[in-house]
Amino acid sequence: MLVNEIFYSLQGEGYFTGVPAVFIRLTGCNMRCSFCDTDFGKGIEMTEEEIMAEVRQYSAHHVVITGGEPTFQLNERLTALLHEAGMFIQIETNGTHALNKGVKIDWITCSPKCDPSKLRIQRIDELKVIYEGEGQDLTPYETLEAKEYRLQPCDTQDETKNQHILQDTIQYVLQHPQWKLSLQTQKIIHVR
Ligand code: SF4
Repeated sequence: MLVNEIFYSLQGEGYFTGVPAVFIRLTGCNMRCSFCDTDFGKGIEMTEEEIMAEVRQYSAHHVVITGGEPTFQLNERLTALLHEAGMFIQIETNGTHALNKGVKIDWITCSPKCDPSKLRIQRIDELKVIYEGEGQDLTPYETLEAKEYRLQPCDTQDETKNQHILQDTIQYVLQHPQWKLSLQTQKIIHVR
């Protein structure tokens, strides 16, 4: 598998915010979002056993498999080995590609970057929508089935714009309590 990086940190976003986790970032993505802040292009080839050897160096039992878009490479062997080692597996996906055959995931966080009708992921546990401010129509997402609905203010890299988007996000959540606010706490507490 082509792996961009493996690192240990706190989950910064969504339902598992604050949980210590090993992050496995797989190389590559099929989308090109203007606000993407992830360097997912580079990677080194690693076997599933080599990935496990790195994961085992850390004491956490929570693994977050992310990207780029992890579903293209993620395979049954890696998820089986992680489960055998007692890991809880969370993935973060844009939802446009289904999980490969035999891949078993404990928690699917889907952050769609396209029309919801184009989603192919088998299920969504947590829907995390990036909110770009007042005027963005969220009603198509509200019909998607999920356990958790999170609205996360878009980071535009412009502090003034970000403040406006944050206020819009708070207002939207207050008026539509199906949603909860998700913050990128890793950027607030300056961890990875
Ligand atoms: S789907 Fe995610 S990783 Fe891919 S380009 Fe968009 S923001 Fe970046």
